[in-house]
Parts: sequence; C-alpha cells; structure tokens
Amino acid sequence: MSDIACVSCKKSSDPIYMKVFMEIVVCPGCHAAATAALMKLDREINQLKFVAREAIRMGVIEGKFIEGTKPEPAVSQKNVLETVLELKKYAGRGGKDDDSTHRSDG
Ligand SMILES: [Zn+2]
Repeated sequence: MSDIACVSCKKSSDPIYMKVFMEIVVCPGCHAAATAALMKLDREINQLKFVAREAIRMGVIEGKFIEGTKPEPAVSQKNVLETVLELKKYAGRGGKDDDSTHRSDG
C-alpha cells in the first residue's frame, strides 16, 4: 500500500494509521487536535446554554415573560456572552490561551 497524505498537515503515512475527521482524512495527530477543539467548543456551548437558561429563569422570576406584555431585551446575547466570559475566568484556570504555532523548517 502506498502512503497517503494528511489533508491537514500534508504528512504522508500508511493508510492503516490514518483517521477520518468529519469526512476528512487526517493523521492521528491532527485528528486528536481537531477532536480536542471540537470537545472544547461543545463544553463552551453547553456552558453558554446553561447561562442563557438561567438568564431566562431569572427573567421569569422578575416577571419579564408575562403573556401580553411587551418583551424587554432583558436576556440579550451580549449579556449572556459577558457572563460566560466571567464564568470562564473562574472555571478555566487550567487552560492557557497560547497560540501554539510549532513550525519546523526541514
Ligand atoms: Zn496531520
């Protein structure tokens, strides 16, 4: 069998080692990195959903969702995002935001 190249990093490997990420053939390293990014996104979306639901719950308690009344922009997307960013300051102590651009020439 001839080697095939990873679509992402272009590194050639034996096809038995290659993996598929969202219908794209990639090497195990790129697959792991892409999967980790996807999982991180899922966690952030779940966090966002939780905060948004809480904001609506608070809105209900404060009487902002009474039928027939004009809806107030109490639960804005901006507010939710700001709250998520605040939460991440406390929750995400372990994660560093360094852009790991490891490039080797040769
Ligand atoms: Zn790769």
